[in-house]
Amino acid sequence: MEAMETSNYFESYEDLDIHKLMLRDKARNTAYKSSILSNRHDFKDKVVLDVGAGTGILSVFCAQAGARTVYAVEASNIYKIAEEIVKENKYENVIKVMHSKIEDIDLPEKVDIIVSEWMGFYLLHEAMLESVIIARDKFLKPDGLIFPESATLYSVPCSVPSMYDDWEDLDGVSMRHFGLKLRENASTRPITETVSPEAMLCDPEVVVWLDLREVTVDDVKTMEMRHVAVANKTGKYQGICLWFSCTFPSRLTEPVTLSTDPEEPPTHWKQTIVVLPSDIQVEKGTPIAYDLQLARSEENNRRYAIEVTMLHPDEVEHPEYCTCYLTKC
Ligand code: SAH
Repeated sequence: MEAMETSNYFESYEDLDIHKLMLRDKARNTAYKSSILSNRHDFKDKVVLDVGAGTGILSVFCAQAGARTVYAVEASNIYKIAEEIVKENKYENVIKVMHSKIEDIDLPEKVDIIVSEWMGFYLLHEAMLESVIIARDKFLKPDGLIFPESATLYSVPCSVPSMYDDWEDLDGVSMRHFGLKLRENASTRPITETVSPEAMLCDPEVVVWLDLREVTVDDVKTMEMRHVAVANKTGKYQGICLWFSCTFPSRLTEPVTLSTDPEEPPTHWKQTIVVLPSDIQVEKGTPIAYDLQLARSEENNRRYAIEVTMLHPDEVEHPEYCTCYLTKC
């Protein structure tokens, strides 16, 4: 079923700065480019659908890899730029730019491959995945390929120095009240910023793994996960950091992964942090238990409500693999 548009979602993609941010994201471009060009054997003379083509860069990669036809479908007015980029790169005979929502379009044929850069902050923000699922079910041949083909969302308890530190004495001025307000705001919506790997207090855990070949719209409506992590260092527990990785298909070479892990080179997605209202000092070996729920918002279907519930580690059933039995409880 087609999602009702509740925001100026497509107008926002007319903003060149948004595309500049994506086009300047080296890790992002390299992952798509190398996964597409290192699988030329899969693209040669094949039909490709680029869901949400934007400025057309992924369609050009596919044409460079030898695709016979690329349907570059883009709902926003940025499609006009894609048309120019196609000409500039002399692929008018291969890439057909189509100005439409993917949900409203008919294609003259089924496609061998879908490429799409649908990932939002914390993977699911914007909920564009739904459009890729609809496109897959409507247009992809059985056994067709999807770039990327899987995605994993991770969570890990962390410190958030930018929210908590420095406000007591900022250049000789006490800004404690400002710091408190900042945290109060952050409690209503997660923040997006680059977090250093040192701020991570535990090993990351998987919130959800999505196989893009099979996932359904219902699968990504509500996701809930109970975690019992163990602090691998002493520090201040101040938030839950979310980040994701995507893996691209590969038959002959090592699969390419695009990751927004704090350990990896930064991307425009940065990391997403659910900030806790107050901090908790944890010692190395302390179990940290929490429930994490992501539920697609009723009011704005491009958003998810993210809820973290802190749990007392003694009161939750620990999974079999849980190492905190070794350390404490
Ligand atoms: N593929 C481009 C742009 C990615 S951003 C690149 O990699 O640089 C996602 C793009 O998808 C935006 O331009 C947005 O307008 C478009 N989009 C999102 N949902 C869509 C839908 N349902 N139908 C068509 N285009 C869509």
